[in-house]
Amino acid sequence: MELDTVIRGGLVVNADACVRADVGIVGEQVVALGESLPAARREIDARGKLVMPGGVDSHCHIEQVSSFGILCADDFHSATVSAAFGGTTTVIPFCAQHRGDHIPEVLSDYHRRAAEKAVIDYGFHLIVANPDEQTLATDLPAAIETGVRSFKIFMTYDRMRLQDEQILDVLMTARRHGALVMVHAENHGIISWLAGRMVGQGNVLPRYHAICHTRSSEAEAINRVIALAEVVDTPILIVHVSTIEGVAAIREARARGVKVYGETCPQYLFLTAKDIDRGLEGAMFCCSPPPRDEAAQQACWQGLKDGALAVYSSDHAPYRYDASGKLPKGEKTTFKEMANGVPGLELRLPLLFTNGVGSGRISLNEFVQLTATRHADLYGLARKGRIAPGCDADIALWDPDKRVTVDAALLHDNTGYTPYAGRELKGWPVMVFSRGECIIDQLGAPGEILAQRGRGRFIARERTDAVSPANRMIPEMAQLAAWGNAL
Ligand SMILES: [Zn+2]
Repeated sequence: MELDTVIRGGLVVNADACVRADVGIVGEQVVALGESLPAARREIDARGKLVMPGGVDSHCHIEQVSSFGILCADDFHSATVSAAFGGTTTVIPFCAQHRGDHIPEVLSDYHRRAAEKAVIDYGFHLIVANPDEQTLATDLPAAIETGVRSFKIFMTYDRMRLQDEQILDVLMTARRHGALVMVHAENHGIISWLAGRMVGQGNVLPRYHAICHTRSSEAEAINRVIALAEVVDTPILIVHVSTIEGVAAIREARARGVKVYGETCPQYLFLTAKDIDRGLEGAMFCCSPPPRDEAAQQACWQGLKDGALAVYSSDHAPYRYDASGKLPKGEKTTFKEMANGVPGLELRLPLLFTNGVGSGRISLNEFVQLTATRHADLYGLARKGRIAPGCDADIALWDPDKRVTVDAALLHDNTGYTPYAGRELKGWPVMVFSRGECIIDQLGAPGEILAQRGRGRFIARERTDAVSPANRMIPEMAQLAAWGNAL
């Protein structure tokens, strides 16, 4: 078989091993991994480079309208170009149902927009804000059939949050049909009560955002949703975990056999509440939950090391620092009115590489595990997240010695700023392949995106073991079952 491309002589890094090998590609797939592969039509000299699976970013907001009605700054083109330049080759953004929205229309709307613009492959999660009977009985099962195998629910935000009974309904539907439920876990009452008091007293600067989203609000909600998941024995994934208490709650539940997964994001490893405490400009660092302190950062690192936190995602939520995003009322905008979120699609991997691999906190294998492989395994992307025969040739060549000083002007998203400006990073993706096609080539000089708009493909995700129940009944449910009751 003649090879189309050989990536020759690099260090191939997978989640389980590092080997010095050539990677042979035919069409869209890796077909061979070995020493001295035969000559190909295209030869890539990867000596001195790391050859890693393209990142999978399973938490990012693209061309999404928030519950405040604000459209985020990136469309499917700018977001996927930005992801690709940062070494990510698959994204799983959200289709967002708002109350009153009909789910089939929501899905087809996002599908249409992504199909026209995406330059890398993508799946979808579905945000469920209105779990009425039609949604539960018909629309969610139908979405799962099409490969949208994960739902996101919110425990806070006025227009998004679900009551405990509604959460149980969604969990039960997910259990029956094999979907993973992602949870934004914060106690709504604590946050809105504190925020109301602060705004009432005229304390409206971004720094109050960090105060009102207390550590306890995250801890309470994580513990509560774990308890709900245990009632129906349904796997859940807690997104953007930010606190010592949150990481500990997940670790403890996992230790007693609950199938709960955790996620953290760059903002919880690399920012703190001090970044928010800089007057109105603190808005550029505001997200929910907010960055905390050094001790919380350490807890998140520890969670990534020991498995309490399974994945590291960007939670890219791009809003410009102007009236279209962060400052709808200009300088009079209160922290309750600003759009929440920070950009991170492009810097997710370089930040972790410098501060994780570069500092010796994590190995190269753990880097790949946390940024790609485990996302593919949890969310059912069988051909992504590893470099192996039969997998899609989604590959990033990294120059481990390339130094970059972060500057918003270098990045490809539409946010217009980055919370990480001025940071010195070492290690950068210099060539990126998506399904065998070279879409970025900066081995020599900086280059433009080589991919056509719309070349990215929707991936219908498969059922994985991650969504199988743990077969672990709490005593009360066992009693109900023993008495012959079904739910
Ligand atoms: Zn998010």
